[in-house]
Amino acid sequence: MSTEKKESSGVKSKSKKYKYTGVDKNRETVSGVIKGETYGQVEYALSEKGITDLIIHEKKKLKAASNTDPLLVEENDRSVASRNEIVAAELAKVMAEENDRSVASRNEIVAAELAEVTTEENDRSLTSRNRIVTAELAEMAKIKADGTEISLIQLEKELLEAHEVIPYEAIPLVSAQELDCLGLRWEGDTLVVGAPIARWPEVETLLTSLGIKYSLIDATADQIREARSLTLDLANATKDEIDVDALEIGEAPVSHLVQQLIERSVLERASDLHFETYRDFVSVRVRIDGHLHELVQLPVRLAPAISSRIKILAQMNIVERRRPQDGQFTTMVGEHQVDVRVSSIATIHGEKLVLRLHDAAKPNVNLKSLGMSHSQLETFKKMISVPNGLILVAGPTGSGKTTTLHSALQAVATSYKNVVTIEDPVEYVVPGITQIPIIDADRSGFAVQLRAVLRQDPDIILVGETRDAETARISVQAALTGHLVFTSIHANDSVGALYRLLQMDIEPHLVASAVRGVVSQRLIRRNCQFCSTSHEPTARELLILDAYGVTARELMHGVGCSLCGGSGYRDRIAVYQILDITESMAELIVAHPEPNVFRRYAVESGMRSLDAEAIDLAVKGITSIEEALSLFTGGSG
Ligand SMILES: [Zn+2]
Repeated sequence: MSTEKKESSGVKSKSKKYKYTGVDKNRETVSGVIKGETYGQVEYALSEKGITDLIIHEKKKLKAASNTDPLLVEENDRSVASRNEIVAAELAKVMAEENDRSVASRNEIVAAELAEVTTEENDRSLTSRNRIVTAELAEMAKIKADGTEISLIQLEKELLEAHEVIPYEAIPLVSAQELDCLGLRWEGDTLVVGAPIARWPEVETLLTSLGIKYSLIDATADQIREARSLTLDLANATKDEIDVDALEIGEAPVSHLVQQLIERSVLERASDLHFETYRDFVSVRVRIDGHLHELVQLPVRLAPAISSRIKILAQMNIVERRRPQDGQFTTMVGEHQVDVRVSSIATIHGEKLVLRLHDAAKPNVNLKSLGMSHSQLETFKKMISVPNGLILVAGPTGSGKTTTLHSALQAVATSYKNVVTIEDPVEYVVPGITQIPIIDADRSGFAVQLRAVLRQDPDIILVGETRDAETARISVQAALTGHLVFTSIHANDSVGALYRLLQMDIEPHLVASAVRGVVSQRLIRRNCQFCSTSHEPTARELLILDAYGVTARELMHGVGCSLCGGSGYRDRIAVYQILDITESMAELIVAHPEPNVFRRYAVESGMRSLDAEAIDLAVKGITSIEEALSLFTGGSG
């Protein structure tokens, strides 16, 4: 959008005046007023003059702050804005007085001042208070002109800087809430706005009055609300930049940083949070929809404090920095209880910590929400509605096997059955069934527990994973002696899963009579519903489609927006291959042919390959061709 339009909607103002206080080359305190568009320019101009240890504030804000009666500080009903101004003024005062003290002690005073101010704010939630404190700290860090000391956490900075006016800020919040609309992304100078069709006339009137060029896409009010809460969370997280120097005062700020990074990860639907120490920095990465993204790089000097903080939380040994360790803890993010499993490993530059995040309050799973096609669902239901037998779910780590297993379990569990699970870890807590966590992560964990469970008269057993011959043998025996057993197994496809049992020296005739069916699966990313657009297939895509015997006039892909971090993808969907063991297949297993012979037979009997299923999803517009193809190249987990 053009500059005039921006100004007319009042989103941007130009050349503000800033008041600064700092120290010159002779360590004399200096102050004055300087014009500039941003802090950055002001900061640069002053550092050119050799002025350091700066406090810079917009002039009008400072004025407002100094006009405030100190008595008002104790009032609870002030606006956040004016409260912030007072905090800023306090900071300015402290900073101006403390020219000759060390950075550390200055920060301590600032932190103490902040604490004092914030304790007066009884009516605010802890979170919003913390946000203000960190925002202030960030401001301070920003205005310290001593180049090397400026180390801000730039959470998703690129995302927000992608356009001069952030899409969701282009429409005033109140109007946006009233009309259930949300600015999603810029296409050139056109704002793409999501809104329910019923609201389009009003939204159009609003956008016209704002002088914004727009195009509208249909979205339900619920989708808009969900999208808005996500963008606002993102925006807040971005404002919560942290002064790294302040982190060194003590443990409290580091614990705040760790908590913030966990919260941020959960809000972004991340499954894992990685802290990797390199020679010069600590890289913090999150896994979202199966792909890793770097959140931030932190100074390497913080590594020991971060590592200690996480280890304390997870009840690990903080002195031990060489041997691998693991632990766990739970934390609250908003209303959600999040279970965090921590593992540490020593690398050449220091420790690497991986936090696996699991939102314990995930909605209950069920067969319908798995995303199987109608015919797959029918086959799967038939497969699991037997009184006994072994059902295998195959796929690599992180392919959604646990969700499939629990959905199946809930479909068959009834109150007159004894349902027991042995899991590592327990991911879904389900009332009415007995869930046993594997505490001892050694190889015999599952087998030991499974033997104990079998002495407790179970009907249905879920064995989280079959990774050793002993567990496989007991599972098969249990399935053959009247129990319904569900388990997951590492294998590339359904036929591979059957052969995995055979490789574990389970006799072919036992496999043939115990296994009822196999589901193998992968997760691929869905096109982002907020920015998906159609395109004609390219020549290469046509060739690929042709190879699978399908045609499509148009395909869909996400072009990237603020709700998918620019990736074009949001959430994932499972791709399934289902192998229903028929009588003739069971006979073939007993004959134990080469896997490929069996595979050919299964395909002839109607089994489809995982990649054909993935291409189907691309033709339906649910994912892109590239993402479907990533199944062959291993690009997606
Ligand atoms: Zn998007």
